[in-house]
Amino acid sequence: MSCEKITTNEHIMPTYNRFPVRIVKGEGHYLYGDDDTKYLDYTSGIATCNVGHRPKSVQEKVTEQIETLWHCSNLFHIPTQEKLADQLTQLTCFDQVFFSNSGAEANEAAIKLARRYHQKVKQTDREEIVTFSQSFHGRTLATLSATGQEKIQDGFLPLMPGFSYLPYNDSEALNQLIERQPAAVMLELVQGEGGVIPVEKAWLEKLIKLCDEHDILIIVDEIQTGVGRTGTLYFYQQFDFEPDILTSAKGLASGLPIGATLAKSEVAEAFSAGTHGSTFGGNPIVTSGALATLDLITKELDLSQIRDQMALFKQKLEHLAQRKNEILTVRGAGYLLGLETTKKAIDIVHAVRENDHILILVAGPQVVRILPPLTTTEEEMDRVIAALDRHLN
Ligand SMILES: *Cc1c(COP(=O)(O)O)cnc(C)c1O
Repeated sequence: MSCEKITTNEHIMPTYNRFPVRIVKGEGHYLYGDDDTKYLDYTSGIATCNVGHRPKSVQEKVTEQIETLWHCSNLFHIPTQEKLADQLTQLTCFDQVFFSNSGAEANEAAIKLARRYHQKVKQTDREEIVTFSQSFHGRTLATLSATGQEKIQDGFLPLMPGFSYLPYNDSEALNQLIERQPAAVMLELVQGEGGVIPVEKAWLEKLIKLCDEHDILIIVDEIQTGVGRTGTLYFYQQFDFEPDILTSAKGLASGLPIGATLAKSEVAEAFSAGTHGSTFGGNPIVTSGALATLDLITKELDLSQIRDQMALFKQKLEHLAQRKNEILTVRGAGYLLGLETTKKAIDIVHAVRENDHILILVAGPQVVRILPPLTTTEEEMDRVIAALDRHLN
């Protein structure tokens, strides 16, 4: 333990504003600092450790895999990868999966697939991907170009061509899809990084109808909303539609790096042999972790009971908001929740960490973002509510 304390971040590129805490251990709903402080983790690694840290059944499967096979190239069949693709397609409306290592890569594959589908299968000249203001799709050049936030693009010009942005949840603006005839639209059903902004149902219905009528593919980015976070395996399953492409990452392997791009067979066909690839994508270790995670979430946990717990926590936050002038709104879905505040969100986050040893996040300057593990208890919820109560007026 003691040598951890003398590490510095001098040789780490300063891309993050890090909290002054060095995390050395994770177990269940708790993280431990190098000074032995025990934190209740209501960040879940930004929607990644959805079933807590090192869930036992996942750890067992991954350990077993580590003792058998770590890596082999995608030039060979990989049983854990095939099994995971079988599971994912059985649990969703999709037919085929491409595996990568991160959310950005899952979105890169989705963008490439949508372009190639139009260029090769449909033989149209469509290449544009329409995304939405305040969206977040990743940090690679293509995905930051897809992201509708200037601060993410600042200093990295020129952007990749072929992206344009429409205002989110704005029905009037959707009519532009008719003139533009893009290859695809790409959207989050709750904008996570952009401020925890849920999609409006009527707007989504109009979007779906227009895309249907005009042969525009729908890509849903469920990298933050996926893998149980909103009370169903994916959030689209709470709406009456089937996207053409879905991207998943963060929570899929309980913290092991994985990305997945799921598609309907007609679209997936466009990725013929040699068109796309990844050295590590679908690696035996991460896919065994994902298989165990899916088992845990879809078989061991009772998602309908978890949806009740989610509603209970939201209600507790709403009651708190009624008593607090500094909370303007409570929004989000499931356990992806945002409190819009009049005071600086980061000050609240620091206060509950320092005083109450509870970890929460921000999503923009005036939104506190709360991401409990799916298995959190009412007692833990009440601890968080009490802490927020103390630091808000
Ligand atoms: C985190 C996130 C990404 C990027 O994922 P990385 O694994 O960091 O590349 C993309 N889209 C959404 C909605 C995200 O929340």
